[in-house]
Amino acid sequence: MIRQAVTLPPSWANAQIGPVVTDSREVTPGSLFVALTGERTDGHRFLADVVTRGAAAALVSPEKLTALASNLDTVARPWRLIEPAQAQTLATVPPDACLLIAVDDPLFALQRVAVYHRQMFTPTVIGITGSVGKTSTKEVVAAVCSRRLRTLKSQRSFNSEVTLPATLLGLTADHQVAVLEMGMWAAGEIRFLATLARPQIGIVTNVGPSHLERLGSIEAIANAKAELPESLPADGWCILNADDHRVAAMASRTAARVLTYGYAPNADVRLLDVVSHGLYGIELTVGYEGQSHRLTTPLIGRHHAYTALAAIAAGLVLGLDWDAIAEGLREPGEQLRLRIVPGQHGTTIIDDTYNAAPLSTIAALQVLAETKGRRIAVLGEMLELGAASVEGHQQVGAAAATMADVLVAVGRQAHTMAEAARSAGMPAEQILVCDNNEAAINLLNRYIQPGDHLLIKGSRGVQMETIVAALQATT
Ligand code: ATP
Ligand code: MG
Repeated sequence: MIRQAVTLPPSWANAQIGPVVTDSREVTPGSLFVALTGERTDGHRFLADVVTRGAAAALVSPEKLTALASNLDTVARPWRLIEPAQAQTLATVPPDACLLIAVDDPLFALQRVAVYHRQMFTPTVIGITGSVGKTSTKEVVAAVCSRRLRTLKSQRSFNSEVTLPATLLGLTADHQVAVLEMGMWAAGEIRFLATLARPQIGIVTNVGPSHLERLGSIEAIANAKAELPESLPADGWCILNADDHRVAAMASRTAARVLTYGYAPNADVRLLDVVSHGLYGIELTVGYEGQSHRLTTPLIGRHHAYTALAAIAAGLVLGLDWDAIAEGLREPGEQLRLRIVPGQHGTTIIDDTYNAAPLSTIAALQVLAETKGRRIAVLGEMLELGAASVEGHQQVGAAAATMADVLVAVGRQAHTMAEAARSAGMPAEQILVCDNNEAAINLLNRYIQPGDHLLIKGSRGVQMETIVAALQATT
């Protein structure tokens, strides 16, 4: 807890502090470092590095400082431990010193400061949750918003109790909209994130078995995601995927006005048609209030029709015109996860190695299916599926049988995927099983031919990017 306000010296009056970081390796001059205690390590251990890298200040716990940061004394740059009782001594702090601000619990302090900071401004806050597609949706919603409104968005997948408050601290009076990804590991977390961010608009993309291991059942996952609709105010908007029955059912769990999207005939923003142009993106026809609109986006894969629909819905509730919405979809900004990489020997790699769940893997297989040449699915293990693991790998194996010419199944669940592919009619000689990434690289090096398209995908923890790195064309 922050014990009392610290009065900063006059030289700090206009100081720009930020960004807020929790990884010492990301500290740049001016950063505010928050020393967190994690399962594996403790940020206090790296304070010497944080000071050297030029952090303006750090939130620290004094007891941890004594126990873990003895090497601070060896640092060339000055620093001062600021305890509230000594706030008056700040006047004597050298201007280039790093302030180590003592708090009982740095994470709690970060969250408290973020709440305080959020309350100073009046942007429209959009919270996005769901099992898959949060980051994609966040990027495209932000792209649409930023055509007409000054927009802050979460970086990367910053969606946790640590990274969401850090994002909130980036809010300024200039921002009209903040688009925030909200993730969860356990029940109660989305509600907590909503308490910090106070979103007026919430989007739920879908409910799938990611995190089943921790939450126990898919209903429990749906309940946890429903905490976002439940947190919205009556004058807000709840944007829901009408094609996912667990998400659609959340309409009864919000005080906010509801706008739905999807293929479902009763969806408000209705997908009438989607045409895939393979690696060049998709084209959608969308019906809204009796009019139809044709829109294109370079997002690869039909599944991104949902990403686009959610962004259209967000644009509509914000009162944006269709030109702004169309422009945002055409230029969704940052590279989204599915990357096209030139491979060795004239092959093309579809790199989707960031993470994997059954839903996203089947979506990626659909993209592979639309390519020409020999289509090779290189699939690693999908982690965190708990009791749904075997079934999830079977589904993916069976899908590979219909959407790929060759399946290279890698890792601990390789046999499950391979057997499912075989049962679904894939000839045995087109199914290759590898124990690990290394074996897959050796095999593929011998196997690939010009014109092949390789989809490479697996969970974050199985590091399928090592296969991409080994097979990509050298420049
Ligand atoms: P994380 O929990 O890792 O932050 P996320 O929810 O932010 O994931 P994204 O990073 O947007 O999800 O997408 C993860 C994967 O799911 C990508 O491969 C993406 O192409 C795919 N994906 C996105 N939306 C959908 C969807 N509606 N259906 C199926 N797959 C999807
Ligand atoms: Mg994400």
